[in-house]
Parts: sequence; C-alpha cells; structure tokens
Amino acid sequence: MRQLFIAVFAIIVIITLVVVVFTADQAYREEQRLHSDLKQRSTLLSESLKESIEPNFINKPDQQLQYLVNKFEAEERLVGMNIYDNKANPTATSSSLTANIPQVKQIAADAMDQDQNAEDFIQLGGRKIYLLATPLHNENSVVGALMIAQNAGYIDTRLEEIWKNNLVRFFIQSSLLSVASLLLIYWVIYKPVRNLQELLRSARTGNPQKNLQNVSSLFFFKPLVKEVTSVGKSLIEARSAASEEARLRMEQLDSPWTAHRLKEYSKDILGSRPIIVVSNREPFIHTKNGNINYYVPASGMVTAIEPLINACGGTWIAHGSGNADKLVVDSEDKIKVPPDDPKYTLKRVWLTEQEEKGYYLGFSNGGLWPLCHIAHVRPVFKKEDWEEYKKVNDKFTQAILSEIKNQEKPVIFIQDFHLSLVPKMIKQTRPDATVSIFWHTPWPNEEIFSVCPWKKEILDGILGADLVGFHTLAYCHNFVDSVSKELESLIDVEQFSITRNNHTSHIKPFPISIPFPNGPQSKDDGKILQGLNIKTKFVGVGVDRLDYTKGLLEKIKGIEIFLKNYPQYQGNFTFIQLAVPSKSKIPAYEQFVKEVDREVDRVNSLFKKNKPIIWLKKHHTQEEIYKFYKVAQFCLVTSLHDGMNLVSKEFVAARDDKKGVLILSQFTGAAKELKDAIIINPYDAVETANAIKTALEMPVMEQVKRMSSLREMVKGYNIYRWFAEILKTMTLLG
Ligand code: UDP
Repeated sequence: MRQLFIAVFAIIVIITLVVVVFTADQAYREEQRLHSDLKQRSTLLSESLKESIEPNFINKPDQQLQYLVNKFEAEERLVGMNIYDNKANPTATSSSLTANIPQVKQIAADAMDQDQNAEDFIQLGGRKIYLLATPLHNENSVVGALMIAQNAGYIDTRLEEIWKNNLVRFFIQSSLLSVASLLLIYWVIYKPVRNLQELLRSARTGNPQKNLQNVSSLFFFKPLVKEVTSVGKSLIEARSAASEEARLRMEQLDSPWTAHRLKEYSKDILGSRPIIVVSNREPFIHTKNGNINYYVPASGMVTAIEPLINACGGTWIAHGSGNADKLVVDSEDKIKVPPDDPKYTLKRVWLTEQEEKGYYLGFSNGGLWPLCHIAHVRPVFKKEDWEEYKKVNDKFTQAILSEIKNQEKPVIFIQDFHLSLVPKMIKQTRPDATVSIFWHTPWPNEEIFSVCPWKKEILDGILGADLVGFHTLAYCHNFVDSVSKELESLIDVEQFSITRNNHTSHIKPFPISIPFPNGPQSKDDGKILQGLNIKTKFVGVGVDRLDYTKGLLEKIKGIEIFLKNYPQYQGNFTFIQLAVPSKSKIPAYEQFVKEVDREVDRVNSLFKKNKPIIWLKKHHTQEEIYKFYKVAQFCLVTSLHDGMNLVSKEFVAARDDKKGVLILSQFTGAAKELKDAIIINPYDAVETANAIKTALEMPVMEQVKRMSSLREMVKGYNIYRWFAEILKTMTLLG
C-alpha cells in the first residue's frame, strides 16, 4: 500500500512541474501581448496629438498646449499627458501626472536625445504606469517631447488571473487524476500483482484452487496468469510426483510381497470385515458347447484382481455373461471359484439383452471407453444408453446391498468405468461401508472429459467413494482437474482429497501389476514354434485384445518398414501376434478387425521368402501366452493409449533367463515405470522399425542388464503390494 501512495505522490509532483512551466509560459506570452497592445495604442495616440501640438509649439503656445493636455485627461486608461521643451522642462502637464519626477523627465530626455520614441513602466501612487515619450519637431530639429502615461495595472491583474485560474484547474485536475490513478493502479496493477503473489505462494505451499479462480479474470495479466498458473501447477505436480516416487521407493525396500503375505496382512488389518470386489467382467465364464466348460477372460483387470481375491477370500460380484453361467449357480446366483480349487464366491448379476446393449456396448464401450482412451475414435453418447447405464448401476448396487445386509463395515472394491455411479449409490444406503473405485483406463484431461453429457453425474457418482484409484499420478491430476471444472467442491491438492456434500474422497495413484514372482509357470521346449512351423532365427511377439486402442495397425506398419529398411531380415524374421477378439458386437470393433486382417494380408503378401506375420486370432490361456513370451527375442507393445498394459509386465516376468527386449509405447501407464524398455512413439513407424532392429541386435550383456532391472521393478511393486496398499489406505479412511 505504501508503494501505491509513493506512486501517486510522484504523479502529483510531475503534474505540478508541468503546470508551473506551462503557466509561466502562458503568463509571459500574455504579458508580451498586452505590452505590445499598450505600446501600439499609445503610439497611435501620440502620433495624432503630435500633429496638433507641433505647429503651436514654437509660437508661445502654452495655454493652447495646456488646453490640449487637459482635453485628453479624461480618456479611459489614460493617466495623463506632459509636454516638455527641449531642456526637458514641462511646458504643459496633466494634473494627475507629476511631470517633474526625475525618472519621468529622463524618459522625455531620452526620446529627445535619440530622436525616437522612448518608453518605460513606473510605479506611481501604488499604480503601475506605462510612459511613452515622443520627440516634437520644428522643421528638422527636436524642440520638445510629448509624453503619454497610460494605466498598466490591468496587465498585472490579467497575469494574476492566469496564475490563479491555472492553480485552481491544477488543484481539481490533480485531485481527480490522483484518485483515478489510485483506483487504476489498485485495480489494474496492485490487486492483480497481489493475486499473482498469493497464487505463487499457495502453489509453493500447496493449495492454489481458490486463487486460480481469482486471477483468471484479470484482463491485462491474462498471459502472465496463464504462465504463473502452469508454473504453480507444475510445482504441485512435481511435489506430489516426488513424494509418490519416494513412497514407491520406500515400499520396494520391504519386498517381496506374496499371496501368502497379502492373506496374512488382510486378515490383520481387516479382521472380520468382508471384502467385496465388484466389476462388470467376471473372472470365470461358463460356456456350454455340449459339455459345460469355463475359461478366464482376457482382461488386464481380471489378471490383476483374481490372484488377490484368491488370496484374501471374499465375494466377487460381476455380470454373468457366459451362456452356461446360469446353469452352475445356486439359488442366490453364487458359485464358489476357481471351479477346480474354490477360494472365494462369485456372485453373478444378470442383465437383459437391452441392458447389455445400452449399458455395456453403448454407454460404457461406445462412450466412456473411447472418451478415456484418446485413440481418435469418436465417443458416442446416447440418452437411451445412459438410461440403461443408470439402471444397471442400480442393479449392481442392489446386488451389493443384499450381499452386505448382515455385514458390518464391509470393504467394497469397485472396478472401472462401467460402474461409476455405484460408489455414491452404496454410500447413500450404507455410509458405514468403506468404498473404493479403481479406474483401470486412463483419465483424460478435463477438456476431453467435458465432452460427456453426463459428466457431472459420473463425477458425482465416483466421489461417493472414500478412495479413488488410478494407475498414474497424471490421471489423478486429470481427474482432480475435471472435478474442479465441473463440480462445486473443496479440493486439497496437497492431500489429493476432494470434499463434496460433507464427504471426502481421497485420490491416489496405484500402478497396477501382476502376481510376479508367483505367476503362471510354463516351460517351452520349442514345441510352440514347431507347432506353428516357424523356423526363422528371429522371433518377436505381441499380445493384445483386438482393440483400436492397442495400435495394431501401427504395429503392422512398423514391421513392414522394418523389413523394407533392413532387408537382411527378410525370410529370417517372424512376428507372432496373439490377438484375442474383444467387444466384437460393437460396430467400431467389427470394422477395426476387418481393417487389421486386410493389413496383415497386405504386408504378408509383400515378402515372398516367408510370411513375416503370424496372426493368431483367438483366446489363449495365460500358460500358453507365457510360452510365447519365452521364445521371443522381443515383445512389441504399441498401444495408442493404455491405462497400464499388463502384457509388458508379463513379458518381463516370463523372462527368467533375463534375456529378451521389451519395446514399449510411451502412451502406456507402464512406460512410467519400465524405464529400461525401448520406449517408442507408435505413431512413428520408422521409430518402431528401428526399435525392432535395436532389440534384435542388442548385445546379450545389455539385454541382461535391462531385463534384470525391469524384473526388479515388477517384483518390487507386484500385484500383492498393490492391493496391500489399497487395503491399507481404505482401512485408514474408514
Ligand atoms: N490375455 C489373455 N488371453 C489372450 C490375450 C490376452 O489372457 O488371448 C491377457 C493378457 O495376458 C493380459 C490381459 O489379457 O493379462 C490384457 O491386459 P492388458 O493390461 O495388457 O490390456 P487390457 O486388455 O486390460 O486393455
């Protein structure tokens, strides 16, 4: 505030100086003008009088001269008149003018001496008088002088007026200007700068939400605000990234976590509190094709969650999607699983065809899936799908509520984007339950998420949970940004918590993983390649669901460019792609599969020595997949956007020989952890091609070094550690 007054004082001093200089100049010019005007008038008068005086002057004219002098005495502004002889003695004088004053006589004498007009100002009786003396002639000789005295007091009055007026104007102007400057400086500079300072301070100390809104409206400072805002945001993100990294490092020190250890740990912290896992996809699907069989669906979520509930026990509530699912459940729609060695209960929820179409194929996979994966497929949101989505979320909620009706403080762990409304629905009826939701896909930035017409309802539903988990810190930030944009809530960025309607949700990253080192055990004695009649020296592998987010077209292009740019590998290289059909009832997927098939045929037809791409379009078990992982020199993951990507971690886990190279898309969550992979941009086919060459030519020593460090990473933060962390956080919350 002090600076503000100093600034205003400086403005006033500058204005004062400007006004004084300008007024002095104006007064000087006015004085010059009035003086010249006075001189002109006096000269005219004396010239006209001279004509009457000169002929009479020599012939004893005293009386006549005095008559003339008296006649002009009454003139306005004319103070008087004197006529002098050539010795500067007055011969006729005006009564009001003292002709004998030496100063006055001197002016008359000067005029006669120089034979030209002489003038001056004198002070007489407190008045300013202007005197003009004109020489009088007889023929060519100077015989006397005529002096005219005019009142010049009005010149000073006029100058005084100028100063007075300018001072009053200055006072009013400077007062108005000071007030205006004060307000202007306060609103346009002082306040925004204070806000920016506040913003930076709160970014430094950790809670910028309120201030970001304050400064965002400042017109002049908009570009600066934008910069400062992003600096503040980066500061917060850097701080939370550092603390998360520290947390993960600390955690790795107490590895390894195993199924057994998790089981003991969960008993320890949960006591008798039951665990309920909820997801759309079920861990075992029963099918009837003559006999009743079952299989484990290809899903990262199932791969990750099944070993956990297998270890801890509890109930898994999921959609019964198999055509024989109803045939094997009891009257409560439950079945003990795994079917060969039961460890927990699977409770199935039945959906009608219409519900499945609207909720699963429509809103979840036609809308939310492409929305969360920025893979250039337009999300489609339809009102009728949304209605089914709400209905099915309610159906799941009723199934959960009936399951926990006799249980105290149950722990409910909900999976994924299919069930975003369930957390709030549960909490409304059972506030004693501890609810968490884990989002298995990425969370897009707030602008992309705002596309969803029911964004507020979805965010509100999720915020019913006590804990909201994402794979990476970046997704947590995106989620918090979406909430801050869409909903009224109190956000604590430092704590990563959001309070809304008196309920607090904690947002945390938990990078999902696999059950390494207790994963699938499989040995390959070369049969798998023999069975496929693969005889080439170099083999690569890819394992993906047939999903447009997996970058399969980009993968095929990369292989084509690799073989074209490095022809020495033609006939010597095979890439095996395990491609499990997925969501094939959705038109976008159907088209995508056709396009991929065409591309595979096209590239295979380009190379005559052998068919470089073996496309195995069917579901494989984990044991089969691990065999492929083991025989390949490299695994290629080209996802265009992927929450985590467990295939990359599985490849690392399978390589107990510590050889083989992982080529991993930078757009996977896993790329944040698996830094010893060759990281690629899958949109750049040449980069992919070069990465394949680098992988195939990588010295064994380097392969071992990289693979050992990758294995340490996956082992240190395996799926048991992941779930232990989630359980620990949930129990701390309620
Ligand atoms: N998977 C499978 N059978 C197959 C293909 C894939 O069991 O035929 C498994 C694969 O081993 C991995 C999961 O499906 O565990 C895919 O998980 P990821 O996180 O890579 O991708 P998501 O499918 O979840 O997007």
